[in-house]
Amino acid sequence: MERYSIIEEKNPREIVLLRGRGCTWRRCRFCDYHLDFCADEQANYLLNQKELAKVTGLYHKLEVINSGSFSDLDQKTMDLIQKVCVSKGIREIHFECHWNDRQGIKALRASFSALNVLVKVKIGVETFDALFRESYLDKGITASDPAQIATDFDECCLLFGLPGQNGETMERDIVTGLTHFERVCINIMVENGRPIKPDPAVIEIFLKELYPKYMGNSRVDILLENTDFGVGGEPCA
Ligand code: SF4
Repeated sequence: MERYSIIEEKNPREIVLLRGRGCTWRRCRFCDYHLDFCADEQANYLLNQKELAKVTGLYHKLEVINSGSFSDLDQKTMDLIQKVCVSKGIREIHFECHWNDRQGIKALRASFSALNVLVKVKIGVETFDALFRESYLDKGITASDPAQIATDFDECCLLFGLPGQNGETMERDIVTGLTHFERVCINIMVENGRPIKPDPAVIEIFLKELYPKYMGNSRVDILLENTDFGVGGEPCA
């Protein structure tokens, strides 16, 4: 499992995949990322310490992901992230957060702001079609208005290549995402052991119609494979 990488294109940054106590939602019917967790906080800290030691500050931007919300990381790891920001000159840091954990974002921004580090928080929305999202994906977002969802967040993830999606619905999601968020990260569904499977016909529509249109957009990241950022792979826990 790769846990450190450098993203050279679009919003260049270093990225670390850390490990926490685990996503507290764990219900999304397409996701096996939440298997990457450990209940032993000290073991997590030691693993996270090893990965954070690789951060050089090359682009002064760092993305921290942990298969859940930033609030699932132990306090020693959070303290170390702050130390790394200061010692390596990180000026912007990105975290992920589930809708249910958004109440911690204000304090997160304040604690990094005290160090002159700007926090950007990404939410996995997957689609702005609330009925599809909640009845099929079981994402756990209780708001349906995109503006309301965006209130506490800066960036969103979308999940494409699912049965029931088409060119029109996917483009509507991209446009909505770009209207309400600074950046959009599109993930193409990759088969895993979970009930929701990718739809090859939908993926083909994306590749033919939408990928060429948005691949050059600096506000849009597109992950055709879930390891395209250079981190991830088979969950290890
Ligand atoms: S997609 Fe995110 S919120 Fe949903 S179960 Fe997976 S890790 Fe948890």
